[in-house]
Amino acid sequence: MVEVNNVVSGWMREAGMAVRRDVVGNLVGRYEGAGEKTLVLGSHLDTVRDAGKYDGTLGVMVAIACVQDLHDRGQQLPYALEVVAFADEEGLRFGTTFLGSSVYVGAFEERLLGLEDGDGVTLAEAVRVFGGDPESIVEGDCEGGDLLGYCEVHIEQGPVLEDLDLPVGVVAAINGQSRLGVGFAGEAGHAGTVPMETRRDALCAAGEFVLEVERAARREPGSVATVGKISVLPGASNVIPGEAELSLDLRNPDDAARERLRDNLEAKASEIAASRGCEHRWQVRQETPAVPMDSDLSTLLERAVEESGVPAKRLSSGAGHDAAQVAALAPAAMLLVRCERGISHNPAESVEREDVGAAIEVMRDFISLVSQRVDAGTEPGRMQEGR
Ligand SMILES: [Zn+2]
Repeated sequence: MVEVNNVVSGWMREAGMAVRRDVVGNLVGRYEGAGEKTLVLGSHLDTVRDAGKYDGTLGVMVAIACVQDLHDRGQQLPYALEVVAFADEEGLRFGTTFLGSSVYVGAFEERLLGLEDGDGVTLAEAVRVFGGDPESIVEGDCEGGDLLGYCEVHIEQGPVLEDLDLPVGVVAAINGQSRLGVGFAGEAGHAGTVPMETRRDALCAAGEFVLEVERAARREPGSVATVGKISVLPGASNVIPGEAELSLDLRNPDDAARERLRDNLEAKASEIAASRGCEHRWQVRQETPAVPMDSDLSTLLERAVEESGVPAKRLSSGAGHDAAQVAALAPAAMLLVRCERGISHNPAESVEREDVGAAIEVMRDFISLVSQRVDAGTEPGRMQEGR
């Protein structure tokens, strides 16, 4: 992170920005404008292990390219542009996703400072070594009052744009998630002696449930549902399974639809268990609501997409992003860029040069559409106050 921040700081300065690091180590480049208000563009610079080149980084680079273009033409906007390169989105070291952006918006939880990495170094210590200030991390670094909004460019990390043959798309909402633990308990028994008619096989109940999850999610538009983990006890080839535990991950851009699917699946699990003389257990471990993107800012972004000659398609983001955090502070919008076969978190991550060009063109146009609104006194931030 020290190296990448140094390199990117240099590029920000070359593009005419004043550069600072905030209390947690987010890198902030500011291109002053004629007015007081600020439009923020950004994404993250950290990665997973064995990552690709574009997840996060692309959004920071597209933003810098837009500012570079303004700087080269000596153009000043009626507002300031800030490029924020968030310090820790993936949460690899401490298992905390959105660390940088949660501090930025003032949503950081103090108890996390005591978390330790694999070498026993606390988060507080790591922030201090990195040049940040763990004492003032809780207050955050940014006040939302003067923000016109936040716009993030990110690779799609899914195959939808490729299937539609589009270089870019506008995010409607970042999907909400339910994470659950589901268990079935029957009776273990001898694989050779217990007749089929009298068995209470927990794995057969779980198997029936897994296929029901697939069927139910296919019936509910926009839903994805995954059983990614299953464990069976006692776990021997000659013993009828007495217990089966599985994970369930449900996502949907619409919270009501996700909750409906969750409740229907619980009823189904109970029905399947009863029909097989088994018990079932249902544990909701985590519920994260969907984050809709700001409609005013997203409409501007759509206009910018259309003006570049590309049909504007709204899609939901199955992956989480810094924009979901920043949305609590300011109107937020996101532009997704097509990536090859949707592959991400993998060195094979790949984008086309032309698609990156399209994203830069859209963002330049978006910036000038925001300028028109500021000049007209109807800027997005002001609209928000009335809501
Ligand atoms: Zn990312």
